[in-house]
Amino acid sequence: DFIAVLMFYRDYEAGDQCLTVLNDINLIIAAGEMVAIVGASGSGKSTLMNIIGCLDRPSRGNYRINGQETGELAPDELAYLRREHFGFIFQRYHLLASLTALANVEMPAIYAGTTSTDRQDRAQQLLDRLGMADRIGYVPGKLSGGQQQRVSIARALMNGGAVILADEPTGALDSTSGQEVMRILQELNDDGHTVILVTHNREVANHAGRIIELKDGHLVADRRVKLLAPPGSTPTAHYTKDQPWRAHWDRFAEAFRMALTAMAAHRMRTLLTMLGIIIGIASVVSVVALGEGSRQRILKDISSMGTNTISIYP
Ligand code: ADP
Ligand code: MG
Repeated sequence: DFIAVLMFYRDYEAGDQCLTVLNDINLIIAAGEMVAIVGASGSGKSTLMNIIGCLDRPSRGNYRINGQETGELAPDELAYLRREHFGFIFQRYHLLASLTALANVEMPAIYAGTTSTDRQDRAQQLLDRLGMADRIGYVPGKLSGGQQQRVSIARALMNGGAVILADEPTGALDSTSGQEVMRILQELNDDGHTVILVTHNREVANHAGRIIELKDGHLVADRRVKLLAPPGSTPTAHYTKDQPWRAHWDRFAEAFRMALTAMAAHRMRTLLTMLGIIIGIASVVSVVALGEGSRQRILKDISSMGTNTISIYP
């Protein structure tokens, strides 16, 4: 079960000054909670969120997940922790523009080494569940904001997503799509997912069972609005860890496919690059041919004189 204990400061170096953007944060977040972090712009909400998601580290103090001190973990172990526990949702979705909804949702599982059939099945199930069954083959540009956010929620759930971190998930949406996204997040919380979301909208915050308020980097309020439901079954990490060679091959195949997709998406660039290479090769070939041609021409001229010896006198 997920229990996060944070006691820390976060400083930023600004020239020769040291700016403390999070001050003496003291927080325990338990599995199954739905927490809203509120506060004015610049109060440190995103910084706190990034530290919770292990994308950033405290400057002083500590952050433990299930008793494990995150500061002592190597980068690979941190990456593993992120993959196993966290699913991220952003205000501007951050979907890959050249991939379909399905491929976007599959993405996190590629790095976890899941086989491609498992991946596709699960991605499809998740999109079905979020009401996106008829949009599976669409690229993000052809989806509305609310639909893109649903794709990004499915992506966050792909590896299990026991803890969902959402930074202003409704910030770029109209109110109807925003409500829809909040309904989904609430459902996920009911299913046992821990949901931590940043918002500066009071109405959105009221969906949460607990509201944490930041002001200029200080934690000024921590209110529990609803009782925490007794812990049910928490969602577990969802991927297969065996067959490492398989994972390597899948990742290679995926990189190759992405390269082809990128080439297809930027036809003009691909064409110009190819043209450059063609011109290069063609000029080398013609210079060599020209040289060889003139050599043979001279030899032929000489042999047409009926001799292969020329004597030159001063
Ligand atoms: P919020 O998400 O609540 O709007 P942030 O967590 O993004 O606020 O930022 C909190 C404060 O930290 C802001 O004053 C911001 O200018 C500062 N800050 C954020 N990132 C950096 C950085 N990389 N370097 C210096 N200062 C930063
Ligand atoms: Mg922010």
